[in-house]
Order: sequence, then C-alpha cells, then structure tokens
Amino acid sequence: MTSPVVLRRCQDYDTAEPVLQEVLEASGIARDLQGARRVLLKPNQVMGLPPERCRTTDPRFLVALTRVLQRRGIEVLVGDSAGLIGFTGPVMQATGVQEAMERQGAKVVSLDVGPFRLLPPSGRPPVALFVSEVLFQVDGVLSVPKLVTHPLMGLSLSLKNLMGILPGALKPSLHVFRPGRDALAEALLDLHRLSAEAGVQWAGAVVDGIWALGGRGGAVPPSPRYDFGLVAGGRDLAAVDLACAVAAGFSPGELPLCRQAMRSGRGPASLEDLALDGPDPRSWGPPLERPGEDWAERTTWSTRVYYFLRSRLVRPAVDRTRCRGHQRCVAVCPVSAVSRQGGRTIIGRDCVRCLACVEQCPEGAIGLRSPWPLGFLYRRRIRGGLGRPDRS
Ligand code: SF4
Repeated sequence: MTSPVVLRRCQDYDTAEPVLQEVLEASGIARDLQGARRVLLKPNQVMGLPPERCRTTDPRFLVALTRVLQRRGIEVLVGDSAGLIGFTGPVMQATGVQEAMERQGAKVVSLDVGPFRLLPPSGRPPVALFVSEVLFQVDGVLSVPKLVTHPLMGLSLSLKNLMGILPGALKPSLHVFRPGRDALAEALLDLHRLSAEAGVQWAGAVVDGIWALGGRGGAVPPSPRYDFGLVAGGRDLAAVDLACAVAAGFSPGELPLCRQAMRSGRGPASLEDLALDGPDPRSWGPPLERPGEDWAERTTWSTRVYYFLRSRLVRPAVDRTRCRGHQRCVAVCPVSAVSRQGGRTIIGRDCVRCLACVEQCPEGAIGLRSPWPLGFLYRRRIRGGLGRPDRS
C-alpha cells in the first residue's frame, strides 16, 4: 500500500484554495513540509499559451497553492524550463504565470539559467543529465502538472512533468537517446530517482485537473477542453499519476509511465494498491478523448530524426560587438564548451544547447541562432506556441 492519494472535486479555480489546503493535509505533504523554509513548484509550462487554452498549469491554481504554502510561512519559488527551447521567460509571461506569481510574492525562476549539477549516468547507452542547482537549494519540490493528453505518453502528469527540469535542448536530446514510449518512461523514472539520490527533496505532486485537455493534447486542434473538476495530490508521484489516469478513463497498463513504474516496482501495481482518499476515480466522469498518434512518434527512427532536429533548432551565438569578455559564459557552461581564444569568446562543438550562457551573459551578447534550413521549423514553433517572441 502506498502513501495516500487524495482526490477532490473542484469545479472552479476561484474555490481551489481550501481544496488544495485539504489535499496537502490529507496527503501528508503538509506534514512533510513542516519546518520547510523554501519550496519550489514545478508547473507544466511547455509552451506560451494563455490559461484558457488549457495546455499549461493554470496560474490561478499556482496562486491558490502558493497562498496555502505561504500561510505556513514557506517561501514559494516557481520554476520550469519551457518546451519552447530558449524561451522560458517569454513562455512564463504568455501563460500568465510570471505576473500572477510575482503579484503573489513568489519568485519565478528559469531552470535554464544554471549553474547545474551533473547526475550520474544511467541506462544503455549511459546518458548523463544535469539539472539546475535551484532544485537542491529548496526544502521541497512539488510537481504541479496540468492534466492533459499526450500523443507519445497517453497522458502528461506529474512524472512526465519532470522533463521540464532538464534545461534547454536536453529535453529533445533525451528523446533522441531514449526513443520510444517505454525507453522514455524509464529515463523519466531514472531522472526522478537519480535527482532524489543526488539530494532533490521531491515532496510530491499536486495535479491541476480542474480544466483538462483531451484529444491531441497539444496546441493543435481538435483538443477539447473538459471541465474535469479534479484536484489530486500525494507524496508518491507514480501513485498520483495512476489515480489520475484511471479518473481520465485510461487503463494504467496502457500508459508507458504507469506501466514501467509497475514493472520496475517503482510504482503501485494497480489501483487496488493505492490508499485512496476521495471519490472512486473509476466513476469520475466521461473519459478524456484519446490523443491519437503523432507521426513524429510513430516509429523509433522518426522520433529520433524529429527530436534530433528539434534539439538543433537553436544554438547560442556570440555577438562580438557586444561581448566585453566577462567570461560568465565560460564559468556557467556545464560541458566546458565555451572558451576565450585570442580575445574572442568561442562556442565549441561540444555545446549541448542548455542555453545557460544566453541567459547569464550580463551584456546580452549571446543570442539564439537557428541554422538554415531549420529556421522555418523554429519560426513555426514560435508562432504556434507563443504569439510573438520578444527575442530573436
Ligand atoms: S555553450 Fe552550449 S552547453 Fe555551454 S552554456 Fe552555452 S548553450 Fe550551454
């Protein structure tokens, strides 16, 4: 039997605060966070769409959760690395999270900025990932995903949400190294375990399912929005995901993350193994429309090609007229790809496009470049996911 998974009905974001308080208390998360000074909320900020498009964690949900934590004397940080590579700041503005959280007195952080900590390599071939030091500087991290369908993983929930702790292009690169549903699921479970072993204090998950998205699940219609009325929380991410999957009308065995967690013993074996608190998820309501299949994720080779191209969509480039030689980029680069040669800043081939140098240059001398012929893909992605970029 796992730690409790709490499910509550909540039809309206304006009434979410007392519901969230109850979820944190009944799940044991509040007890675990007793005495915590700082907590990081990790929402889903995959692309820059407004809350009514229902693709990202709603800012009203994050504000309500922040209020509950602040009343306990906890300082709240909100951080993510957006799926729109290089645009985490603008994405947070477009989703309304930046303004709402700052108004609430929370600190918004980009997980692209660095410095980073390297995690031990895992899997075959071994892949070494790195994550922001911010994750280690707080007393608890809560995964706060949006309940949304996903072409590759069926549903995007609290474990899938961990993808956003990887900076910049490490996200598409993980798809290249681990193409296919089960391989990616295994990599995400490893990311959770390895980050916890390295010192990240995962406090649990709180799922925003008040509005949920079905169908394709992305920015591409048709993606029907549901008044799903679900708030779910618990200390065990895999258990929370399993309960939400059942509520959404999925069998856990058909979802790669639930399946891999079950197989490897890192998650509950079935719904019967959960200590449920709340309505039976099997009778939650009409199931979400299935996501269908995405051409890019149909076969291993198409996944590899697509995500390889995505990981190459942007690269950092130095504007020599603005560079003053501060060497902040040299210090922050996690793979030592930046050097100074003959008074010039050079970015080498080892660059993994985390984009920390772009974020940290005090002169704004490192910008984003998109190599021809991928520029059109980049522009299309920006247009699709974020009305207007404020940086080129
Ligand atoms: S050079 Fe590449 S790997 Fe190094 S900090 Fe910049 S983007 Fe990251």
